[in-house]
Amino acid sequence: MREFIIVGGGPIGLYMAGVLESHGRDYLLLEANRSGGQIHLYPEKLVTDVPAFGSLKAKEILRKLLKDIDSARIIEGCTVNSIRKNTVETSLGTYGAKTIIITTGRGHYEPRKLGLEGEEKASNILYALLRPEELRGKKVLIFGGGDSALDWAKELSDISEVHLIHRRREFRGNPKTIEGARVNLHLPYIPYELEVKGSLVKAVIIENVETKEHLSLPCDVVLVNFGAVPKIETFGLPSREDHLGFSVDDHFKVEEGIYACGDCVQVEGYAKRMAPGFKEADAILQEVLSA
Ligand SMILES: Cc1cc2nc3c(=O)[nH]c(=O)nc-3n(C[C@H](O)[C@H](O)[C@H](O)COP(=O)(O)OP(=O)(O)OC[C@H]3O[C@@H](n4cnc5c(N)ncnc54)[C@H](O)[C@@H]3O)c2cc1C
Repeated sequence: MREFIIVGGGPIGLYMAGVLESHGRDYLLLEANRSGGQIHLYPEKLVTDVPAFGSLKAKEILRKLLKDIDSARIIEGCTVNSIRKNTVETSLGTYGAKTIIITTGRGHYEPRKLGLEGEEKASNILYALLRPEELRGKKVLIFGGGDSALDWAKELSDISEVHLIHRRREFRGNPKTIEGARVNLHLPYIPYELEVKGSLVKAVIIENVETKEHLSLPCDVVLVNFGAVPKIETFGLPSREDHLGFSVDDHFKVEEGIYACGDCVQVEGYAKRMAPGFKEADAILQEVLSA
């Protein structure tokens, strides 16, 4: 029987895989989508709070995590549906291992949409800023008021005409991010209607929340950052009453032979970021590698 199965290929699962690889251990990583987890939501962000990486863009952290892993040990597009001792049932079949380590983070992440007619077939509405260079010279509408929306606005302000639309007068994210940047603000506005031609949104009509006045903003691209709809799946294993992920002991053990760490485990007082997740992974690795 295989030694380890890691369920979930976000940064914590990939880190775990890298350590097992460096110890020459027999493992398999199962990932529902593509490896990287939440990093795909902020690839261009400069991450400065993971001491092991110094100051790096999120996508570079992902590249580093993937570098030392044998790609044959990662199975992408493999959704895990149930976990029992030594057995993992997936969309691609059943896998067995002595130890199962769950790093499913926030689960399947679905971006929240604008909720307007025509959105589904529009090819120029994006929910993540993957290739900023492709938006050079374009008229870009950004919806949202969190840190990511502000990061995108700042990042694109040098190369695109940026309009930032938010439903409140205050941002949830840090407004200093866009201080001095060439960003047209529309506050407090919400998206009202899409003007669609073929598969392209040509303009978005926005509505002032206070006056109900409408404004049509022509655009080449629409970026939406309304957050995520997370679904933490706990596979029938012991989970917290507040639905914040798995219930674990001090060693991050869910049950005999099953561990969990990272964002799928909320530990009182821990901000769920990568650094605490890596630390939890180390604690598990220390235990399972010395067993
Ligand atoms: C916009 C944003 C900015 C952030 N900025 C920072 C930052 O600057 N610094 C920092 O440290 N942290 C940051 N974070 C938080 C950080 O990304 C998370 O703490 C980290 O991604 C958690 O890693 P994880 O591996 O536990 O989970 P995730 O990244 O959520 O990965 C979980 C993986 O498991 C997979 N999965 C889920 N369910 C299944 C299933 N049933 N079967 C198979 N696979 C499954 C998912 O597809 C996913 O790939 C940020 C998060 C966001 C959203």
